Amino acid sequence: MTALQQAADTASAAAFARAQQVIPGGVNSPVRAFRSVGGTPRFIARAQGPYLYDLDGHELVDLICSWGPMLLGHAHPEVIGAVTAAAQHGTSYGAPTTAEVDLAAAIVERTPVEMVRLVNSGTEATMSVLRLARGITGRDKIVKFAGCYHGHVDALLASAGSGVATLAIPGTPGVTEATTADTIVVEYNDRAAVREAFATYGDQIACLISEAACGNMGVVPPGEEDGVGFNRFLADLCHEHGALFISDEVMTGFRVTASGQFGIDGVEPDLMTFGKVMGGGFPAAAFGGRAELMHSLAPVGGVYQAGTLSGNPVATAAGLTTLRLATPEVYAHVDRAAALLQREVAAALSAAGVPHVIQAAGNLFSVFFVGEDVDAVADYATASTQVTTRYAAFFHSMLDSGVYLPPSAYEGWFLSSAHDDAALDRVVSALPAAAAAAA
Ligand code: PLP
Repeated sequence: MTALQQAADTASAAAFARAQQVIPGGVNSPVRAFRSVGGTPRFIARAQGPYLYDLDGHELVDLICSWGPMLLGHAHPEVIGAVTAAAQHGTSYGAPTTAEVDLAAAIVERTPVEMVRLVNSGTEATMSVLRLARGITGRDKIVKFAGCYHGHVDALLASAGSGVATLAIPGTPGVTEATTADTIVVEYNDRAAVREAFATYGDQIACLISEAACGNMGVVPPGEEDGVGFNRFLADLCHEHGALFISDEVMTGFRVTASGQFGIDGVEPDLMTFGKVMGGGFPAAAFGGRAELMHSLAPVGGVYQAGTLSGNPVATAAGLTTLRLATPEVYAHVDRAAALLQREVAAALSAAGVPHVIQAAGNLFSVFFVGEDVDAVADYATASTQVTTRYAAFFHSMLDSGVYLPPSAYEGWFLSSAHDDAALDRVVSALPAAAAAAA
């Protein structure tokens, strides 16, 4: 019996069958469904430190970390303590608290923004920041990159098939052509295409939004050309044309360094978005920028934005405690663990003769199962050439050995300060069999 057939008799399989009766596809976010790797998703009963425990009692080393937030690992005692204490004082007030101010100040301290507005999800942050940029500039068009994900905001769910600037077509039914008519999509790291977009539409472009380093097509860092990084290039080009440069640090913020990708390349965007780590595993996110720009928001300015649960006291306690505990030692540990895994994965895949490219932005990395002739992935066109069947075989072998990787070839691998030698050893010892399965 194969591992996949065995999986049909598990408690996870029973839970998945029941889930599919009441939740579309049995999941509340599509990638969790294992569609691209096949098989039955594991239903999780609990998590502690670097481990997830599924309904069948399997202990799995977690290399997703809730897609980023769990920088300190699961159920960190101080985070749980802070959340419990906050909940005991009431779970939502709909009126301001000093803890919200502390969280906003903690973000301002670590990043180039002067002010933030707290929201509940990364999607809400990017949606709101686009409205703000359009409100400030009085312009309609936005530029985004193919392969960059900014949440499921209608206007940003658009992609185009070529590296030449085109007006976007919607990427999903339900998003109208009118909604994306003002979205221009270009290939990431393609400076000529970005220049062309601005040459054509410059005085109509409100903003360009980019992941600070791409993590949503696999990890694709901003490239250098003649000593100028891609983010610097984007910021300068935006400013030449009176547009705002928005850096989306929902994934990279407070993860790849204490101040995100900004801590790596030092490029100051006009506006930024944050999420994941700053919520410590709870729904909290933010967008921010210079005070002069942020003052365009209601109630000071006219750009309306609001939220019943924004700045929620329980989420705020989790985020604030997580940021407080994210010391230089935490980042040094995660950096070392990421470097170790990248080396070991490369060695195992090379030994098994599996073509691959490993790319990183700080401690966030991913493994591309590319064709023979690809030695770097700079854009979505190249990322899409992956041999995803190889990744599926690799993924299932790792899962059978007790390692939970992203169930998609297009995702980063996330670590935490709780990933100790025992957890990392388990990952390393699972690699040769998984590499052989992918060969
Ligand atoms: N922006 C980036 C860069 C992301 O990676 C994500 C989610 O993965 C989002 C925005 C959306 O965040 P959320 O899932 O909290 O809505």
